[in-house]
Amino acid sequence: MKNPPSLDQLISALKVLPGVGPKSAQRMAFHLLQKDRGGADRLARALDSALLNLRHCERCNTFSEVPLCNVCADEARKQELLCVVEMPADLLMLEQSRSYDGLYFVLMGRLSPMDGVGPQDLALDKLVARASDGKVQEVVIATNFTAEGEVTAHLIGEMLKAQGLRVTRIARGMPVGGELEHVDPGTLAQAMYERRSLA
Ligand SMILES: [Zn+2]
Repeated sequence: MKNPPSLDQLISALKVLPGVGPKSAQRMAFHLLQKDRGGADRLARALDSALLNLRHCERCNTFSEVPLCNVCADEARKQELLCVVEMPADLLMLEQSRSYDGLYFVLMGRLSPMDGVGPQDLALDKLVARASDGKVQEVVIATNFTAEGEVTAHLIGEMLKAQGLRVTRIARGMPVGGELEHVDPGTLAQAMYERRSLA
């Protein structure tokens, strides 16, 4: 006997999630349909709404429901400072650390040859265009202190320095292998204050 087509479709759809193979997709589908139909409904609606409403901010590339996110739209922020982070969660962490009042650019990823993520997969053209707006004077690179984050920082640094921009890197008060998302706001603030020029 075969699964009903709609069940097969659900299982197959769940496999788009990273790290989810056929077995876990099947477990998730059974859980949603049998144990948590309310949760399944919320998940379906949230996905639908997110797909419909979320775009990338025109300036900083983070997720936003409006063309210009609220950080980019805030004219009180220092227009001459641009901080590059990997993911929206990193931006939120830096905001929580209250150590930074410039603007951001969110790469939406990092270089990761092992996972097949190359320069063409990051919004590097958008970053160079954004940093070359004539107002930005310093680009602070705040990618993670992982091997991938460091390689990404190096590539971006070279690209931006070639544009004649001053490029700094947040300091290594961060643990080696450290991800911004998992560091306490105080440590992150210190790393921002002690940022240094990228050699
Ligand atoms: Zn923005």
